[in-house]
Amino acid sequence: MSLVFAAPAPVTVPVAGGGEFPVHRIYCVGRNYAEHAQEMGFTGREPPFFFMKPADAIVQVADGQTGSIPYPTLTKNLHHEVELVVAIGQGGAGIKAADAARHIFGYAVGLDMTRRDLQNEMKKQGRPWCIGKAYDHSAPIGPIHRAAATGELARGAITLSVNGAVKQKGDLSELIWNVAETIEYLSAAWTLQPGDLIFTGTPAGVGAVVAGDTMEAQIAGLGSLRVAVV
Ligand code: MN
Repeated sequence: MSLVFAAPAPVTVPVAGGGEFPVHRIYCVGRNYAEHAQEMGFTGREPPFFFMKPADAIVQVADGQTGSIPYPTLTKNLHHEVELVVAIGQGGAGIKAADAARHIFGYAVGLDMTRRDLQNEMKKQGRPWCIGKAYDHSAPIGPIHRAAATGELARGAITLSVNGAVKQKGDLSELIWNVAETIEYLSAAWTLQPGDLIFTGTPAGVGAVVAGDTMEAQIAGLGSLRVAVV
């Protein structure tokens, strides 16, 4: 095969304890915590829905380091959304919730960074969210922790602070559609592949950050993800 230009390098996320997880696709769940659904103007009882980010939106941040993202173009309202990220190790279609656990390679802390003003404008016009959600550097993520080491993550604190002040605070047990149910819904619509990441939704308290701010996202059992906006 003769490529007409160099193929992009694979996008990978470090695995705690060693190795690199090659990223295939990034799926995201919308409004998956009741209080966040309510703060966005919904009841929290709607069926799950999904959007995607490109794999190369990933910004990987090593344990104990502070990563950085540029303040993106076009927006005046960049929002943080802390999320549990599920890393798929074994693909499949039509996966039942009861069988979902064996498809999970591990978990990470992620940020679904959002150009909220652009997303809101697209919502209003009934247009796709890509420009608000799927832009460059929109998916900072910490190391992936193997499920074999963490066990199933069904409860535990999920928090985000900006410059040391807590902004988002929830518990994984408050997910409207839990990880297994999310995998069932997703795999009914797409064939999941090894390397897929699922951003599972954010608890209430989303808000704006500006250049100079540092976010610290934490999930019990997964450590902390520090990202500066520059
Ligand atoms: Mn989100």
